[in-house]
Amino acid sequence: MHYLNGSFVSEEELLISPRDLGYSRGYGVFEYLITYNGRPFLINEHLERLYASASDIALTLPWKKSELSALVYETLSKNVSGEEKSIKITVSGGVSSSLRMEQEPTLIIMIDPRPEYSLDRYEQGIEVHTVLHTRYSPSTKTLNYIEAVKQMQIRKGTGTVEPLYYNEQQVFEGARSNIFARFGDQLLSPKQNVLSGITRNCFLSFFNMEGITTQLADFSLDMLRTADEVFFTGTPIEILPITKIDGLPVGKGGVGEVTKEAMRQFKNFTRSHA
Ligand code: PLP
Repeated sequence: MHYLNGSFVSEEELLISPRDLGYSRGYGVFEYLITYNGRPFLINEHLERLYASASDIALTLPWKKSELSALVYETLSKNVSGEEKSIKITVSGGVSSSLRMEQEPTLIIMIDPRPEYSLDRYEQGIEVHTVLHTRYSPSTKTLNYIEAVKQMQIRKGTGTVEPLYYNEQQVFEGARSNIFARFGDQLLSPKQNVLSGITRNCFLSFFNMEGITTQLADFSLDMLRTADEVFFTGTPIEILPITKIDGLPVGKGGVGEVTKEAMRQFKNFTRSHA
């Protein structure tokens, strides 16, 4: 079951108007979170970011955060089964015949099984392809993932998982993930022009490895190509090693020790989530 504008609905009933500003103009924001042990992980952080994103695009949300949170729990409770879930909360501009919002926003809470990824990806790492692209309002989680979908279309059948965005000055992030790169004893993740990832903030709050310091700091694509280790962080993928960039191996090739330790610590942290 899902939630749509005041009702709990089945998959077949999960329908919106093509006149919705989310569909007709791409005007909307969203959050994507998952459960661990059946409980939504870092829901308050996700709701904070949803409200910040909405504010960035001047979309006023008529609900209190506590109301939205209660709705998420209620929608989840209508989906009783043992498996872990993903929760997508979308708020769009609602039905309109102009560029103005004419109605209340459309609110959808979609519940699905949490995606599972092959162990292979984590044991061997993935390859990323770089794409010269700057996201619209990078700190805002809008509905605009056109570049991401475009890249997946272009690379259809190649096994590509995620493009990596950069410009002449700096590396930004993956289409749905933040990036970390280790240069010697420093583990860096870009500071500016990226989404403030909840997985990365969470990871930074507990990661502790002797001899390794973490920092938000920008670096160029040329510099990234000299990194010893690289990985993505993101809600469904957690910590995902990157072992090739544009066909060239990262560092010595294979998944490095700091990435392995990061994955271990993340697993321990989320396992204890109750
Ligand atoms: N960067 C972008 C552009 C994203 O879309 C996402 C997640 O959807 C992330 C980073 C990672 O954020 P989080 O860790 O909150 O999932």
